[in-house]
Amino acid sequence: MNTVKPPLSDDLARVLIDEDSISKRVSELADEINAKYRNIEEPLILVGVLKGSFIFMADLVRRLTIPHVVDFIAISSYGKKGTERGEVRLLMDTRENLAGHHVLIVEDILDSGSTLSYLIRTFGARGTKSVETAVFLDKPARHVIPVDIQFRGFEIPDVWVVGYGLDYKERHRTLPYIAEMIPEK
Ligand code: 5GP
Ligand code: MG
Repeated sequence: MNTVKPPLSDDLARVLIDEDSISKRVSELADEINAKYRNIEEPLILVGVLKGSFIFMADLVRRLTIPHVVDFIAISSYGKKGTERGEVRLLMDTRENLAGHHVLIVEDILDSGSTLSYLIRTFGARGTKSVETAVFLDKPARHVIPVDIQFRGFEIPDVWVVGYGLDYKERHRTLPYIAEMIPEK
């Protein structure tokens, strides 16, 4: 194994969550999910929110022992800046029919809560058996709409983070750790 790490990019302030901590926490979340859904009859449908959730999803599903199916959606949201409530729109829907299934939404980060509250409502109206959420990061200081999170990776402060699927203008998405950006002047 190559243990030499490249230096931190100069637009990043610090590593907030390192690779080992991520790996350990994702294993714990997978254990919780395996336990909670161990008796389901139909496979669990995991729905990842693109693009940010794709690495968390990949790590999580490789640790699942319960029957499951992986799916993705794409959304767009407006009104994030300056307004209280972001308006969310579905750009790409699931390929699976969710009716009759337990659904687990897999999201990179919970901020205001508008994305997840929209998705929980939308999927709940489709005849699903249950809709729950697994969120890798949570910024409690930013919550506007209350959302029930069943599986949560880490709580973080109100800073812009990148890596492990999360980007800043498409930069830093594939870093293996979570880092805090230096705010632009
Ligand atoms: P919400 O709908 O909860 O306000 O926003 C959730 C979305 O905001 C996340 O899926 C993510 O796309 C984006 N977001 C919020 N905070 C951050 C952050 O610190 N870094 C990145 N890269 N995206 C964030
Ligand atoms: Mg997202």
